[in-house]
This record gives sequence, structure tokens and C-alpha cells, in this order.
Amino acid sequence: MALDEEPTSTATYFPSLAASRDAGTAWTCRCGEPNPGDYDTCHFCQHPQPDPQPAARPGTVFTPTDDDMEGAYAGVLVASLGEDGDALALTGFKERALEALDTYYRSVCGRPNLLDDADRPLTDAYFFLDSGHAVFTRHADGGWTAAPTAEDAEGAVAVTWFRSADGPVPAPYGRHDQPKLPLG
Ligand SMILES: [Zn+2]
Repeated sequence: MALDEEPTSTATYFPSLAASRDAGTAWTCRCGEPNPGDYDTCHFCQHPQPDPQPAARPGTVFTPTDDDMEGAYAGVLVASLGEDGDALALTGFKERALEALDTYYRSVCGRPNLLDDADRPLTDAYFFLDSGHAVFTRHADGGWTAAPTAEDAEGAVAVTWFRSADGPVPAPYGRHDQPKLPLG
């Protein structure tokens, strides 16, 4: 590669590249050449830096709309989270979240109800719901995460998380309202 094509910048290229490699910010152009992290275009072919470092870029805080979630169910926007059956409803009211999530799981996932168990009382679902606030952050790849946050945090949105309800009611919420089985 004829580095002297750009004599004015080669003096800084190698030191910058070495520093960027130490810092982990160097990027590789589609032409195959490495570039320092602060070069917006390739030192060799002038192609713009692609978006290879989404993790290094701060995400953009946003308020979710229809387009970001899977849809509105019982009037509340819902999105599933990951592969474990967890989900998120855009409301801080558990009773509204319960109705929305139950509608979502029945209509979209084909489950008998939110708990995937027709014989289980739906009120059990309350024990798997956590209401609070989240900050939604958009990533360079278009995905997003919802991180729990304080109510007064900038960009905080009232949400209710549903944690997959496999297994018994969580221990801290152990129920005491079940009628005792008659003895003997
Ligand atoms: Zn290049």
C-alpha cells in the first residue's frame, strides 16, 4: 500500500493506530485496512467508517411507541423480552398490565392464559409482575433495552415487567390465602 499517497497524514496514522489498538477503538475498513478510532473515513480508501462499534456508542434514550413494541393489547403496548417468556407492558398499573399481557399471551402465543396453565388462578400472575420505571435505550442495530430506573430519572417510563411464571409463586410472595386441606 502506497502510504505516501497522503504524506500529510501518514505521520499521525501509525501512532494513532497504535494508540487506538491499545484503547480497543481501532476499526477495520471493508478494504481490509485498520484505522484509528478517531478516523471517520478510511485512511487508505476514504470509505466512511461503518458502524462496527455499536457497543461503544452511547444508546439513545427514547419513549417507545407502537413501532417499538409488538402491539397494543387491551389498550397497553406490550413487547416480549428474550426467549424465556418474559415480557414488558407499558403501564405502571399491574391490573392493566395483567389484562394486557394475558391478552397478548393468549392471542399471540396461543397460550391458555398468561400463566400458560388454564387451571391456575390468574391472580397468581400478580406475583410475577413488577411495576416500576425504565429507561429505554436504542442501540445502533435498532434493538433496545429497558433498564430499571428511578421514577424521576430523565426519560423514565412507567412499565410492568412479567417474569416467566414457570414454577411456584416466588417465595417472598408466598401465599397464605389458600384454604387448608381438611385433615384426615
Ligand atoms: Zn478502506
